[in-house]
Amino acid sequence: MLTDYHVHLRPDEADTPPERYFTAANAARYRAAADAAGIAELGISEHIHRFAPALEIWRHPFWLEQAVDDLDAYCEFLAAAGLRVGIEADYVAGAEERIEAVLAARPFDYVIGSVHFVGAAAVDQDRWDVWEAEGHDPDRVWSRYYEQLAAAASSGLFDVLAHPDLVKVWGPARPGPERDPRAYWEPAVAAIAAAGVAVEVSTAGLRKPVAEIYPAPGFAALCVEAGVPFTLSSDAHLPEHVGYAYDEAIEFMTGLGIDRLCTFAGRERTLERLG
Ligand SMILES: [Zn+2]
Ligand SMILES: [Zn+2]
Repeated sequence: MLTDYHVHLRPDEADTPPERYFTAANAARYRAAADAAGIAELGISEHIHRFAPALEIWRHPFWLEQAVDDLDAYCEFLAAAGLRVGIEADYVAGAEERIEAVLAARPFDYVIGSVHFVGAAAVDQDRWDVWEAEGHDPDRVWSRYYEQLAAAASSGLFDVLAHPDLVKVWGPARPGPERDPRAYWEPAVAAIAAAGVAVEVSTAGLRKPVAEIYPAPGFAALCVEAGVPFTLSSDAHLPEHVGYAYDEAIEFMTGLGIDRLCTFAGRERTLERLG
């Protein structure tokens, strides 16, 4: 079984309205790409900040710009299109109850939790840059990022944690700390294992400056050791990225002894054989 659950039906750019992308024709393009890649189960996980109810959670200036679409119409569209109904929801510290309220009111098959922000500072965009906010100190940036990831896991809000070492996204442009990265990873993986949340192997990192799969092999190995289950996803924002570099990802996973994948329906997890 292969799955792609972390998939966006549209790019993150402006002028990508639902009426152009949440259509049967666009869903068919993604389905065809999944079929061609041998992916049996396809789920969609748009960013929560594109939907109006996100402002019930957080009023970050970026979200105030972005949160306009109808979240219920999106869920109905996915179910009618025969796609797994997912969402990529940011973890916002202190907003746990408000996140839960927005999620619980909708019929999601799964919720992918992401850490794109540490406080109000952004991990993977130039605006509100966390590196700027933390004085370009790699230890500060990594410490704060992994603390937030651990808190996201412990919140119990999510079924899967997306791109778990996103902080490396900029690659050599913003090198990580000198010391052994396991010092940052170990507490996060302990929180992930304790919470029973799954972790995503994402090929999106291969398309970013870092040019590596998320997570790093060392992070994934700690997860394997701790019995954390995995999903496999492309984080596609275009049909041609569905199942992106899956051969490489499968080799990565089997090399670490990962032989099963999570599937989700109605927020219930099942493990299937990978491949
Ligand atoms: Zn993301
Ligand atoms: Zn995404």
